[in-house]
Amino acid sequence: MNIQKYKIALVAHDNLKSMLLGWVHENRHILADCELFATGTTGSLLHEKTGLPVTCFLSGPYGGDQQIGAKISEGLIDILIFFWDPMTAVPHDADVKALVRVATLMNIPIASNQSTANCVLTMIQAAKHIERPWVISFDFPGQTKAVAPPAPPSLHHQASYTSPFRQLKQLHPGYGKVDPLSKLKYKLAPTHPANPAH
Ligand code: PGA
Repeated sequence: MNIQKYKIALVAHDNLKSMLLGWVHENRHILADCELFATGTTGSLLHEKTGLPVTCFLSGPYGGDQQIGAKISEGLIDILIFFWDPMTAVPHDADVKALVRVATLMNIPIASNQSTANCVLTMIQAAKHIERPWVISFDFPGQTKAVAPPAPPSLHHQASYTSPFRQLKQLHPGYGKVDPLSKLKYKLAPTHPANPAH
């Protein structure tokens, strides 16, 4: 079984740090299989309270958000769990926006609250039960065609359901191969079979 070690960046604003700590503690058995990154204060607290290894960047207001954004733009982070505070203004608001922007641009999953974070974990767990790693980041800027990831295994049992992955495979026979260099992403689908240059 080919289990991908997902690289997850975790950030929480001050009022939401305890929520993130609780969530990580509750899910530490899953997160222990992932590589964790975090802004300074969030990361130190996470490591202290859960014992999980965390690579810490600078504190958010001192550039930590920008450091994580840079890693995302280099394709080195797969998932962003960012509990930003919708009720409190922060001095580094520009950095917060930049981080969310680059994560959106790079098409990685962004969880800004617990329920979305739970969905992401469900997806990670589902990936363990299928032979190939599940597509998490499956498209890049420059690609003109956005594609949907395959559904979790449970959906395949529904008779009427056709996996988007299967549809893509029919359209683009080359799609779905694992890139042995990046190890993270599937080879991208050609934008159109009639145009082999893409
Ligand atoms: P912190 O940064 O983890 O260093 O508190 C979080 C943020 O405000 O971006």
